[in-house]
Amino acid sequence: MTQDIDVVVVGGGQAGLAAGYHLRRQGLDFVILDAAPVPGGSWQYMWDSLHLFSPADHSSLPGRLMPAQPGETYPDAGHVVDYLTDYEKRYDLPVQHGTRVDGVHPDGERLLVEADSGTWRSGAVISATGTWSRPFLPAVPGRDDFTGRQLHTTGYRCPADFNGLGVPPAGGRGSVVVVGGGNSGAQIAADLALDGVVVTWVTQRPPRFLADDVDGRVLFDVATARRRALDEGRGDTGGVASLGDIVAVPPVRAARDAGLLHARPMFTRLTTTGIQWADGSQAEADAIVWCTGFRPALAHLAPLGLRGPRGQIPTAGTRAVADQRLHLLGYGDWTGPASATLIGVGRPARDAARDIARLLSS
Ligand code: FAD
Repeated sequence: MTQDIDVVVVGGGQAGLAAGYHLRRQGLDFVILDAAPVPGGSWQYMWDSLHLFSPADHSSLPGRLMPAQPGETYPDAGHVVDYLTDYEKRYDLPVQHGTRVDGVHPDGERLLVEADSGTWRSGAVISATGTWSRPFLPAVPGRDDFTGRQLHTTGYRCPADFNGLGVPPAGGRGSVVVVGGGNSGAQIAADLALDGVVVTWVTQRPPRFLADDVDGRVLFDVATARRRALDEGRGDTGGVASLGDIVAVPPVRAARDAGLLHARPMFTRLTTTGIQWADGSQAEADAIVWCTGFRPALAHLAPLGLRGPRGQIPTAGTRAVADQRLHLLGYGDWTGPASATLIGVGRPARDAARDIARLLSS
């Protein structure tokens, strides 16, 4: 049976919850469909040592401050899961966990949302499915020939996972190549190196560390200034990219200061047993960890036919340019500055809910 409703939110991570908070304030009737069986979005899958790059009071969704985590300036991922679980309950948000949306289809003036457990007909859809379910792996020659272990950031948990990976007689954890010059690459390389694993860190361009006193608070302030400048027609101030890429969170700083974080330029190919450098020399490796980013999870929107040549759906703010019934929330800066962060998603969520309220009342 098809249920009629004002708005369907697809995805119940932080972006979906922030959307729910603001849809409720607009008095709209909505449901949040989330494929994950429990609250927390992608935070529940992060590696064990991951901590936020901002303190708790700079990592909050609208309406409810994230409480500090005792003993930690920068909360860990488990603390974020607890916060999101509590947020969902506190605001009594109608989240249906364990419900995967397969497709959003045009249906006259409305949209038809088909999920594995039912169908909804709605006046608008907010897509907030994040990127975690679409890890990106670069096309590197020899990738399929390598006989060691390959995993993406999404598969990394802790250094102990590499116990016994080394080939006898050396044994131990063997040697691990970490690919990627962003925060995930630096943090995972640091996590492994600080635990005694032999790490080769490989980046496409020399890593750019932010100053040690720059954390998520500064990044958010810069993103806010950028948004303000854009809103006021003063032009693009350049955002956070000009500052650097890697936040020097405590483990990264510790590994860097201990001389354990030397990046090497990208290798040219994988061999069956390791990597080959640009000069033709080769190095053995037991595992490759690809910290090479993500792509937005938008397959459920394919029936709407809105994707541009580079795979993204063109948006004005959060609203799809070619279909005003669809909003995209989270994902990255193309849906609003800092919209893929805890503190930054509140504002675009509010704008999306207001826009939808206007649309549905017109
Ligand atoms: P997600 O958390 O991925 O939630 C999306 C939800 O949608 C999931 O529950 C998923 O199951 C569901 N879903 C997906 N497809 C479907 C479908 N077809 N049907 C139904 N449900 C679906 N941000 C910060 O503010 N501070 C930080 O310190 C920080 N550190 C980060 C560290 C890492 C390693 C990464 C990867 C990101 C970090 N971020 C940080 C960025 C950002 O806050 C997270 O990526 C965040 O999880 C994005 O939230 P989201 O709600 O957009 O997506």
